[in-house]
Amino acid sequence: MGEQTEPGKRRLGVMGGTFDPIHHGHLVAASEVAAQFHLDEVVFVPTGQPWQKSHRAVSPAEDRYLMTVIATASNPQFSVSRIDIDRGGPTYTTDTLRELRNLNENADLFFITGADALAQILTWRDTEELFSLAHFIGVTRPGHILANPGLPEDRVSFVEVPALAISSSDCRARVAQGEPVWYLVPDGVVRYIDKRKLYRHDG
Ligand code: ATP
Ligand code: MG
Repeated sequence: MGEQTEPGKRRLGVMGGTFDPIHHGHLVAASEVAAQFHLDEVVFVPTGQPWQKSHRAVSPAEDRYLMTVIATASNPQFSVSRIDIDRGGPTYTTDTLRELRNLNENADLFFITGADALAQILTWRDTEELFSLAHFIGVTRPGHILANPGLPEDRVSFVEVPALAISSSDCRARVAQGEPVWYLVPDGVVRYIDKRKLYRHDG
């Protein structure tokens, strides 16, 4: 199984996302996988700036990066990487994993992904390379079925995380409608959204 690590190798979790904004669903997923897979660290990697994420403009990369830093700052196992933001353009997970691999030669990579994103992986480009770069960990997410849609079994694991029916889309819609996002996102992120007036005309 890909969960096995050679002695002396670090176990590095990778949590990619738009994080617009980061919320407790992301944090619980990362924390639970870190515990179950004995990860040494989880690095959160906010995506680069796409022209559009489907139909809506994505918040500036610096805002998404800073919210991710604020949300993860208190956990010594969590860190944030700027690699996708600094590369620019849309993010392809193969590029992310290849770069992390080069930066962390003595580490095994564990890519953490929600049930919704996992179901899409086969539509991503370079799937063969993807699975050679990291072990994939699919986590449960309310409203999405966690199933293996034909991914290589030795490269994918499934983890049940405490269910949090939170999404960034819902957080944005709440802010736009003047509804609270307290306790859906970390306190510092609530304050940051307010300070930067994010999401007020979105949703
Ligand atoms: P949006 O609604 O804008 O798509 P999102 O809440 O899905 O935002 P993303 O940044 O798109 O957040 O997700 C990053 C990763 O975190 C994805 O792999 C996604 O499946 C996973 N994820 C997001 N929310 C949850 C949740 N509540 N529980 C488990 N996994 C989650
Ligand atoms: Mg999403």
